[in-house]
Amino acid sequence: MGIKYPDFDRKNQDGYDGNDKNYYYRNLEKTKSSLPLVGMHECDVCIVGAGFTGLATAYFLRHSGLKVSLIERHNAGWGASGRNGGQLLPGWSADMDYIAQKYGTVYARCLWDFSVEGIDIVKSIISEHKVDCDYKSGACYLGYKEKHREKLKLYASKISEDYNYNIDFREGNDVAAMTGTDFYSSAVFMPEAGHLDPYKYILELTQILKQSGITFFENTPAEKISGEDESYIIKTPNGIIKTAHIVLCGDAYLGMLIPELRQKYILSHCNMIATNPLENQDIIIPRDLACCEYTIFMNFFRKSADGSLIFGGGDALMPGVSLRHTRKKNINFLVQQMSTIFPSLVHEKIRYKWGGSMAVTSSMLPNVGEVMPNIFYANGYSGHGFNNAHRMGKLLADSLLGKCKGYKVFEPVENKLFHGYGQWDRSFLAMGMMFERLKERFWN
Ligand SMILES: Cc1cc2nc3c(=O)[nH]c(=O)nc-3n(C[C@H](O)[C@H](O)[C@H](O)COP(=O)(O)OP(=O)(O)OC[C@H]3O[C@@H](n4cnc5c(N)ncnc54)[C@H](O)[C@@H]3O)c2cc1C
Repeated sequence: MGIKYPDFDRKNQDGYDGNDKNYYYRNLEKTKSSLPLVGMHECDVCIVGAGFTGLATAYFLRHSGLKVSLIERHNAGWGASGRNGGQLLPGWSADMDYIAQKYGTVYARCLWDFSVEGIDIVKSIISEHKVDCDYKSGACYLGYKEKHREKLKLYASKISEDYNYNIDFREGNDVAAMTGTDFYSSAVFMPEAGHLDPYKYILELTQILKQSGITFFENTPAEKISGEDESYIIKTPNGIIKTAHIVLCGDAYLGMLIPELRQKYILSHCNMIATNPLENQDIIIPRDLACCEYTIFMNFFRKSADGSLIFGGGDALMPGVSLRHTRKKNINFLVQQMSTIFPSLVHEKIRYKWGGSMAVTSSMLPNVGEVMPNIFYANGYSGHGFNNAHRMGKLLADSLLGKCKGYKVFEPVENKLFHGYGQWDRSFLAMGMMFERLKERFWN
């Protein structure tokens, strides 16, 4: 008998909506959704979740000869993938030095290459399929304290020497010339990274996948999985799917579908704001780069194709304070941060405010594996998912096709379990953040 999991409980649905004023939705019709599943559907592979991980998995399975279907609770890109900063950067949320010290330099090199391959995948999808998503080359990590300068300088030399990656340290006027602000004093410049409109990209990728024969069912949540081995049933509100393989790509939004996966991450929330198209567009980020602070509570920003400033930052959770309340405070905080960095924008109207959730692991490296035979999963990019989710999609597809047990690449990664199925997330995170804030403020 296969394991039967409890019914999906709507009240336990993790993550939060926050798509109400999403800049990326401004001109695009959300009406291109595929129809929901009604009745019975059979396939070889069913992917659950249409964010970067699910879409990339489908992309690498599209010519496999397998019958592949993708189900999404809302619409493609509804999760973090259609709400994010659009920054396509190399690396991981975990520090590369920490990875090298903990797991060894060979493994660190392997993870670095994985992350860069993720960038290459996105760029090759864009160029091969001529995806219209406003891609721009060039990105930088930024620092404003002396300790950031030292860290960035070391980072540039290590990343270029140990990983042979194209990266340059910059300081002084060079930094102001790149960013259009004298708030920052040091930077590393990465010409092969970049930024794009993630939602436009997702809508086009979805069309490419549909044209190549992948079946999409949107507004179709997976409510329950039963069965075993190569014979699984996924229950949805108005139908069922019979499938041999399942790939779970719900990240922070998967909730309690498979309870043991919910113990592998805590939920973190990130907020975004966007201005109207700026009047003096050439002054703000004249080099049109993706800009990201090299600190744990980073602000990250870039200009969109219409010259709006898209500005994001992490959450400052408070124990015992409701998410809605902290979200409002955090949006206000982001507006303040933006005006501190770009004083000329102090009176700028903020037209769009939104946010999203992401799964964060104890190591800041992802969870990947096979939860039952032929049920694969990947989550927990911990805030650095644009590149890594794409490379992960390739790894999941290869694992499923039996080309390799690709997910074993992540076997050395030790991710602790968070007991309590999510009840303690906010408290854990709030405590960790408080500690990190004190460290950032008072140490060195
Ligand atoms: C505000 C914000 C800004 C960010 N900025 C950046 C950035 O600039 N650069 C970067 O590299 N990373 C960034 N990240 C992180 C990055 O966006 C994520 O790591 C990445 O998008 C995760 O992709 P995913 O496909 O795994 O999950 P998601 O994009 O969250 O997709 C999961 C999907 O699964 C669906 N789903 C879940 N459960 C079910 C179910 N039971 N049935 C059917 N469907 C289901 C959800 O509806 C959702 O659409 C940011 C994250 C946030 C929240």
